[in-house]
Amino acid sequence: MTLEDRLSDIYSSVLLRNPGEVEFHQAVEEVFDSLAVVVQREPEYLDAGVIQRLCEPERQIIFRVPWVDDSGEIQVNRGFRVEFSSVLGPYKGGLRFHPSVYLGIVKFLGFEQVFKNALTGMPIGGGKGGSDFDPKGRSDGEVMRFCQSFITELYRHLGEYTDVPAGDIGVGAREIGYLFGQYKRITNRFESGVLTGKGLGWGGAQVRKEATGYGTVIFAEEMLRTRGRSFDGLDVVVSGSGNVAIYAVEKVQQLGGRVLAVSDSSGYVYDPEGIDYELLQQVKEVERARICEYAERRDSAELRTSGSIWDVPCQVALPCATQNEISADEADTLIRNGCVVVAEGANMPSTPEALKAFQSSDVLFAPGKAANAGGVATSALEMQQNASRDSWSFEHTEERLTTIMVDIHERCATTADEYGQPDNYVLGANVSSFLQVADAMIAQGVV
Ligand code: GLU
Repeated sequence: MTLEDRLSDIYSSVLLRNPGEVEFHQAVEEVFDSLAVVVQREPEYLDAGVIQRLCEPERQIIFRVPWVDDSGEIQVNRGFRVEFSSVLGPYKGGLRFHPSVYLGIVKFLGFEQVFKNALTGMPIGGGKGGSDFDPKGRSDGEVMRFCQSFITELYRHLGEYTDVPAGDIGVGAREIGYLFGQYKRITNRFESGVLTGKGLGWGGAQVRKEATGYGTVIFAEEMLRTRGRSFDGLDVVVSGSGNVAIYAVEKVQQLGGRVLAVSDSSGYVYDPEGIDYELLQQVKEVERARICEYAERRDSAELRTSGSIWDVPCQVALPCATQNEISADEADTLIRNGCVVVAEGANMPSTPEALKAFQSSDVLFAPGKAANAGGVATSALEMQQNASRDSWSFEHTEERLTTIMVDIHERCATTADEYGQPDNYVLGANVSSFLQVADAMIAQGVV
């Protein structure tokens, strides 16, 4: 059997064993596309069975989450935690609360997280979790009762040396607070290192909130630098308006760029004078309101409920909303309008067809597992501070984040060069992280 055939056999068995989990298949396929060059050079990775093992999570937990809503009615949601790989450290990765969550989404996120976390250079394994609970429109009391029920099952699988969740879509400081409070109550331990993204007054780290958005922009700045450019004077489009998008907007502006549009599920706002970061933060983070509120309060902004945010011409596109948000047509529009850099702030926002379009154009494209690794890297910095009962300043933490992002960029670019595909950040990210994870697996034996 040729090496390609052996790789495609493994892929077929992943499809068979995980029916219907389309996002997971997509994430695996993208990595496998990059691994062909690795197994050509070093077939022993196939012999060691690391690829099959990597595609099967170490543990998957699915559980009932019953809770009582404000009208006294009983609600039932489904909770998940997929502990993918602990070869580099305790399982690490966020929790997503969104109605679209099912096993296939959690597995795609957990699989990506293994490689992303390796890229950070920090001692963290990969996992992901969440629930199909929809926090939208729920009162604080309902969110609290849901979080308490969720962690009352999950707590037995967690621990600072075992599994350390954090936030993702639908899970921010409020939810982490409720989860931590109940974990502490059940275990009778103030175990700071069991969750990251905590409040600043009780073990949280400076810059954690900002880290994913800031990190994505720092990564994009490094990409621009390879073309002798910077953000200064560039037009930028940022999709989404959650935690990642808000702080991406802030960082772009600090670096002299102008963000022309942001979005949510109701549409997008176009603001030719540049998105007002403080107003965006007030509307979306403080008030938890819709993006139309932004348009109503700002004269220069216009709400658009038809068409695509990617119709807005820009030199840099930062998709920071959710998976598969950019179609092939939208990618073509971006390319036609002169986009130079695409850096994914969300996890897998480009469809496979969009990815192909970017890669066969002159656009520099960075996958989420590299460009958005700043969030989880800063979670690892939070764990480091918790372990030493220390807390660092904003400036020091941001400096560490910047160094980590510049290093990830360098690592991806160098690996792409080594494998004869300069500028291919997808290959660079997949291959470099795979080699680190695979070598550690081989060293630790068949477990
Ligand atoms: N959910 C984030 C991610 O996709 C952060 C995970 C974490 O901080 O553990 O990487």
